[in-house]
Amino acid sequence: MGLQKLDIRKLVVPNRGEIAVRIARACRELGIASVLAHADEDDVRYTRRFFDETISLGPGDARATYLDVNKVIDAARTSGADALHPGYGFLSERAELAAACDDAGLIFVGPKASSIAAMGSKAESRRLMQSLGVPVVPGYDGDDQSLPTLTAAAERIGFPLLVKASAGGGGKGMKIVRAAGELQPAIESAAREAAKAFGNDQLLLERYIEEPRHVEFQIFGDGRGNIVHLFERDCSIQRRHQKVVEETPAPRYSEELRARMARAAIAAAAGVDYRNAGTVEFIVTPDGEFFFLEMNTRLQVEHPVTELVAGVDLVHAQLQVAAGGPMPWTQEQLAQRGHAIQVRIYAEDPDDRFLPQSGTIAAYREPSGPGVRVDAGVMRGSEIGVKFDPMLAKLICYAEDRGKAIDRVSRALRDYVILGTKTNISWLRRVVTHPAFREGLVSTRFLADHAAELEPRVPEIIPEIAATLAAAPRQRVVGAGEPQVTDVWSSVGNWGR
Ligand code: ADP
Ligand code: ADP
Ligand code: MG
Repeated sequence: MGLQKLDIRKLVVPNRGEIAVRIARACRELGIASVLAHADEDDVRYTRRFFDETISLGPGDARATYLDVNKVIDAARTSGADALHPGYGFLSERAELAAACDDAGLIFVGPKASSIAAMGSKAESRRLMQSLGVPVVPGYDGDDQSLPTLTAAAERIGFPLLVKASAGGGGKGMKIVRAAGELQPAIESAAREAAKAFGNDQLLLERYIEEPRHVEFQIFGDGRGNIVHLFERDCSIQRRHQKVVEETPAPRYSEELRARMARAAIAAAAGVDYRNAGTVEFIVTPDGEFFFLEMNTRLQVEHPVTELVAGVDLVHAQLQVAAGGPMPWTQEQLAQRGHAIQVRIYAEDPDDRFLPQSGTIAAYREPSGPGVRVDAGVMRGSEIGVKFDPMLAKLICYAEDRGKAIDRVSRALRDYVILGTKTNISWLRRVVTHPAFREGLVSTRFLADHAAELEPRVPEIIPEIAATLAAAPRQRVVGAGEPQVTDVWSSVGNWGR
């Protein structure tokens, strides 16, 4: 195939880590030149290898670089790119960036600015969904934010309830309120946090669904009225409302329930005339009642499980449609086959409140073999700082059925070696091998309910690593162009499996 005949010659990616690599790989496959736009203080020695060019977004943290629309547009212009893929996070869901691309004559690989704006506010998108007949969680999404109005609404909704930042994301800006007396302080602190994190203090209230599952649909549109769905993803295994394990198909659900959810997801996307890849998120009660949560108007972190089970390349599809090409598939051409599970690998310490870790990756070995995909943003020698997100990589495993996929992800986690910084690898292995997970008994309470069983077991050091360790000199020099690693012994915590 190749997109040479279409309108994208050179694409800029103002993002980092694994998603930058993911997009650059697609560019090479399609014959598109690629430009990595990055913060000076980001370690890009790994990611840059996949790009044709790099351009600086200047010094400072994310706010001063990846989140600065003017700097991002300037970088795109300077590099001579004709298109921009925002990845996820950062500016990916800012209507302002899509509009600025339009103004600068750049193709924005994503939806129209108006669709992003309509879905960017959880309150506004809830109202839109109700008008389309898509069920939303019983709650309050009005503009009147006065305490008496919110209090009266809370009484109507009942407790427990959730106070949410309308502009929130990444699980941030949410407070559970279990009784009337907790409402006012929760509202005040949520509004303060939301103003600080999202520059907008609008709140909404929702009934807190107990022991729910998070099930979302991948959808894809061409902006000319054609919309398909690429099935669901179950992302119920969460810590602090952040996804940790994602899989498809969703275990233990009937075809009938999934088909009804798919129809609601398509209606939601059609309601904003959706173009490009997007995700409609639902929360599902233990009785199988489902409610719209929000729509993410971008490529999702967990998109690879869909790619494996539907046999598609979502980034190719994004670029094709952004370049003015046709919809890659009809609904009838799409089917689910087999099972895929993704786990997110973080530099964090599961034994100490999951605190983000920093350090230099002293040794790095990725798993491979049948049905194993690793989307990583680091290599041996990479410096993990605290300025940016601590996600290092994603491990995605595919097999014929769910049981085999669990065996495979468990094996691949055992093969995954990262030394020099603590990671959640061993903990993830305990999660996916937990009997309740194998049974498909998942809910957003899973990690809290099973916390005790997920504590580390007696370290069982992998013999091969022990041998490598014994043979390793205390000082070692890594490949040319990579930094010297002085201490591979600093992360013994990693080896307990
Ligand atoms: P997903 O469903 O793709 O996991 P998340 O909401 O967790 O979606 O967000 C994906 C990534 O984007 C995460 O790394 C998260 O930290 C980041 N992110 C989410 N919202 C924001 C935001 N408002 N500003 C910056 N980064 C964000
Ligand atoms: P974000 O933009 O941060 O992703 P979401 O509205 O998608 O915000 O919610 C994130 C997570 O919080 C959900 O996946 C779910 O686990 C939990 N959650 C959200 N709304 C509710 C609710 N009404 N009841 C129970 N849990 C909820
Ligand atoms: Mg969400």
